[in-house]
Amino acid sequence: MSDCLFCKIANGEIPVSLIGESEHAVAFKDIHPKQPMHFLVVPKQHFADVAELAESNPAVLTDLVQLGVSLSKKHSDGSFRLQFNTGAGAGQTVFHAHGHFMSRGVVGLD
Ligand code: 5GP
Ligand code: ZN
Repeated sequence: MSDCLFCKIANGEIPVSLIGESEHAVAFKDIHPKQPMHFLVVPKQHFADVAELAESNPAVLTDLVQLGVSLSKKHSDGSFRLQFNTGAGAGQTVFHAHGHFMSRGVVGLD
């Protein structure tokens, strides 16, 4: 999708400092962190939300979650919240699927 912010981040058109990458997903810090550890994991391919992602490509969803879990173990005490806002009514503002990984038990996210 040419007009999608997270497509542009995932394909390098908008440079961000990645904290991790897998075959199908990239991870980067949320610009407005809600907890001391707060990063987003985004599929490289465009899906509007996690419902569409789960329906059309569960392997990519698994890859995304595995990347986020391994980064959460590295950057927190291992306790974390995983949130997928799905639909405007639930607070989704960027319509490219993404998981929020958040933790208060931070050991460093640099
Ligand atoms: P949503 O509300 O759609 O689930 O979450 C979108 C998230 O993306 C928000 O937490 C917001 O802070 C984050 N965000 C929006 N634009 C950017 C950006 O350009 N860079 C980064 N790193 N995060 C962004
Ligand atoms: Zn996109």
